[in-house]
Amino acid sequence: MTPNPLEQELRRRIAEQGPIGVADYMAAANAHYYATRDPFGAAGDFVTAPEISQMFGELTGVWLADLWQRAGRPEEARYVELGPGRGTLAADALRAMRAARLEPPVELVETSPALRAAQAGRVANARWHDDLSTLPASGPLLVVANEFFDALPIDQVDIAGRRLAIGFENGRFARDGEVAHEASPASRAIIEELARRLAAQGGAALIVDYGYARPGGGDTLQAVSRHAFADPFEAPGTRDLTAHVDFSALAKAARAQGVHAFGPVGQGDWLDAMGLPLRAAALAKSAPDRVDEIAEARDRLTAPARMGRLFKALALVAPGWPEPAGF
Ligand code: SAH
Repeated sequence: MTPNPLEQELRRRIAEQGPIGVADYMAAANAHYYATRDPFGAAGDFVTAPEISQMFGELTGVWLADLWQRAGRPEEARYVELGPGRGTLAADALRAMRAARLEPPVELVETSPALRAAQAGRVANARWHDDLSTLPASGPLLVVANEFFDALPIDQVDIAGRRLAIGFENGRFARDGEVAHEASPASRAIIEELARRLAAQGGAALIVDYGYARPGGGDTLQAVSRHAFADPFEAPGTRDLTAHVDFSALAKAARAQGVHAFGPVGQGDWLDAMGLPLRAAALAKSAPDRVDEIAEARDRLTAPARMGRLFKALALVAPGWPEPAGF
């Protein structure tokens, strides 16, 4: 098989400059991956919580609207989403917020042109940003990020603290050492900017991802293709590269900027506390032909052996804002 254009480019870079850092490799691979496809759903590579059921986005919207109400319904609040995928979560959350008479302007941080187009089809009147720097500088931010941080590049270091790099030998990409620890400077920079904004402007953020409450050490870089684990060093740019999110690092970096951090709690516990069982019952009542599908979605999102425990929710709340529900 001829290597894809990104693989050729990475091989050329390595031949000319030597091995490239794990973060560089991951950033290049994911930029190419997300720019060239819609990876979600049964026909794609993986399924995310908002694509499993509308209940996930609705309860996210309820969570934000509840905080906003108890904060005194501040005007100029904005809905901000990082890495909105197909726009499904935003559409479901905004619909639930409308029921609470919260209709904020929508600001989407998304780098992929293909996914921006998908988002435009589901969310009216959104504005797009390449990163957080161009978000409005005043007014509270109501922020959501689902499976965003796991896609951001990580560094991997060996036991001596040496940063590992990826070379190309014997016809394949390979790391030049054993992974002892990981860190994501890109995630840290984003969480710091987000927390700084929340502290200055007000608002709250819900961050949901899979990862660990305390860093465990070792290698969590993985690739997923067609709903199965794949080799992260094969065919870069054609499969989703992720790493487990270090929630303790995110919470610590956020607190240092003056916001309150709650959690992480398991996604299942958070959804149950937000009323998922009630919402599922109401949905099933209005759509009796979908009872089995709704029960399956509920189980998939909350069961500890499925997404309920590995996926976690972390809340960041501006000083002076109320305590968030479900934590
Ligand atoms: N939140 C969505 C999609 C998760 S996939 C869902 O739950 O279904 C990751 C998303 O983050 C995609 O939309 C991808 O294009 C986007 N993304 C990845 N890296 C990014 C970056 N550095 N800046 C902005 N968006 C990014």
